[in-house]
Amino acid sequence: MKVTPKLLLRVYKALRTKYGHLKWWPGDTRFEIILGAILTQNTSWTNVEKAIAALKKRGFLKVEAIHQMPERELAGLIRSAGYFNIKANRIKHFTNYLYQTYHGSLSKMFQRPGNLLREELLAVKGIGPETADSILLYAGGKPFFVVDAYTKRVFSRHKFFRVTSSYGQVQAFFMTRLPSDTRLYNDYHAQIVNIAKTHCFKNQPDCDSCPLNFLFCL
Ligand code: SF4
Repeated sequence: MKVTPKLLLRVYKALRTKYGHLKWWPGDTRFEIILGAILTQNTSWTNVEKAIAALKKRGFLKVEAIHQMPERELAGLIRSAGYFNIKANRIKHFTNYLYQTYHGSLSKMFQRPGNLLREELLAVKGIGPETADSILLYAGGKPFFVVDAYTKRVFSRHKFFRVTSSYGQVQAFFMTRLPSDTRLYNDYHAQIVNIAKTHCFKNQPDCDSCPLNFLFCL
């Protein structure tokens, strides 16, 4: 199937019409969104929420507080997110980078041009493309399309690309066809996650009631 920019927008409109704007990313501050992006690696969002709540309850959802906190203490507080030692280490690597490069200021960090900041984030231990792009898009308001396993599952089923396509290939697929629009990228990714969780299951997708089943008729 030839996937035109118009078709990709039609897909988004079908999802948006059905579910409305999904108002991602859940989080009150940019730092909370960044922590969520790291904590959500290999775990469900419910578990992330518990970890964030534990930090919030103690007033630790601040860059300086996390930067000064011993790594072991942080690991204990985020235990519910799973892989807590690894994730505490990743969070500390991020705050170390933030202090060394931007004196702990997220505002200064996000003043950096998107492509250059993306390279810096990818050089921080434990931050891969999906986490970096989630930070850039949802915390920084920069137009980078976020790709995940759901994106590959949903659209490979319609032969937009292969399920084995790389992160960069899938991201380029969207970013070369869609306008460079932060608000669109924000909600498009949210809609993909939502449709994967409600219809496009790993086994036995529920196509009959899915708003994207028109794609089979094209
Ligand atoms: S559930 Fe079916 S129609 Fe919906 S996105 Fe998945 S494969 Fe397509």
